[in-house]
Amino acid sequence: CILCSRCVRFTQEISGTSELFVEARGYNSKIAALEDRPLDNLLAGNVADICPVGALLSTDYIHKNRIWNLDQQPSVCQDCSVGCNVDVFSRKNQIFRLTARENQDVNGYFMCDIGRYGFHRFEEIDRVVQPLMRNGETFDALDWDEAIQKTAKLIEQAKGKTARMGSPFHTNESNFLLGQMMAGILGSLPPIRGEEINYPSGFRISADRSPNLRGMTDICGEIAEDLPFELNARNICGLYILDDGVDRDLDNTWKDILARMDFVIVQSYAMTDLAKSAHIVLPGLAPFEREGTITNDQGRVQWLRPSLPIQGEAKPDWEILALVMKEMDPGKLPMQDISQVMKEMGEKFPDYKGLSFFRLGSTGISLNGRHEA
Ligand code: SF4
Ligand code: SF4
Repeated sequence: CILCSRCVRFTQEISGTSELFVEARGYNSKIAALEDRPLDNLLAGNVADICPVGALLSTDYIHKNRIWNLDQQPSVCQDCSVGCNVDVFSRKNQIFRLTARENQDVNGYFMCDIGRYGFHRFEEIDRVVQPLMRNGETFDALDWDEAIQKTAKLIEQAKGKTARMGSPFHTNESNFLLGQMMAGILGSLPPIRGEEINYPSGFRISADRSPNLRGMTDICGEIAEDLPFELNARNICGLYILDDGVDRDLDNTWKDILARMDFVIVQSYAMTDLAKSAHIVLPGLAPFEREGTITNDQGRVQWLRPSLPIQGEAKPDWEILALVMKEMDPGKLPMQDISQVMKEMGEKFPDYKGLSFFRLGSTGISLNGRHEA
C-alpha cells in the first residue's frame, strides 16, 4: 500500500459509507476498517479496481487465473435497468471477473457488487442446449428443423389464438421480432424488482432488476396491462414465451393459465419452471452469450457484446424467431444477420432508426430527443 488514500476517499465520497480510514500516523500508518463497520457495502468491489498497486484484491478473483490469460470484452451489465458499462474477463466458456468500464453518461467509473458477482449464478444453472418436445412427464430431443416446423404448425393451428410474451431480459432485436411475428395479444411476466439504492455520488442501483424494460416497451408492441384477463376474454389457447431465464415462483393465476393452454412454447437458455411447463422448448442464449442492443431506463441504447461461446445447439434468440417467422410465411425473405433486424427495427420505430453496432460504439447512443432531431 502506498497510502494514496483512494480507497478511503471512495468510501467517504462515492459510497458514503466511510468504513475505511488511515490508522496511526507517520511510519506506522496503514489502511484499516472500522471495527464495527466491515467493508461490505454494495459498491465495495470498486476499491479493488481503484487501488493502484493491487494492495486491495477481490477474494472472488484472487488466485483464479492470470489476467494476461483472459479475454477482455467490453459489454453491459444486465442485472438492473441502469446498464453499467463493464469489461468481462473470460477464458474458453468461463467468466472469471467483471470490472467497471468508464461511461460518464451511465455509470461514471463504477459498478455495484450485484452486477460484479452476478455472473456466478449462471455457473450452476440447468442449461437447455437442444430443442426439446414434451413427451408425458419428460422431454424428447428434436433437431432444429423439426422443432421449428412443429412450433409454426402449433401456432397456425391455433388460428390467431396464440399470445406472445416479451421479456425485459432479452435484447431489443428479439423483442422486436416477437412483436412482428404475428398479430394478437402481447404480454410479459410480472417485473422482477428489488430495492432502489441511491448513493451520495449519484451512483444508482435501480429497483427494476431487468436490463431492458424500456427497450421491450419501446419496440415489442402494445403490452397488455392485465394479461390474465385478456387471455380469458379472447380465448387464447397457446403461448409463445421469451423466457426471462430467471427462476421465479409463479403465482396460482399463472399456474392456472399455463395449465389450461393447449400448448406453451418457451424460448429459454435455462430449464426454469416456465420451461418445464412447456410443450416445446427452443434453446436460446444465456446473457453473456447474447449479442444485440438493450435500452437502459434513461433511454440509452447500448451494445451488448457476447463474451462466451454458444453452448450445444443453442441459437441466438433473434435467429430462432426469424426461423419460426420464415416457416410461417415461406414467401418472406430470410433475415441474414442481426444488423438486418436492427435496420428493420429502425424502419418501424423512428427513435431506433440508423442504429448500428458501429454507431453505438462502446458507450451507446441516447434516444432522448433523437426523433425530433
Ligand atoms: S490500499 Fe490501495 S487504494 Fe488504499 S491507500 Fe493503499 S494503495 Fe491506495
Ligand atoms: S447498478 Fe445495475 S447495471 Fe450497474 S452494476 Fe449494479 S446491477 Fe449492474
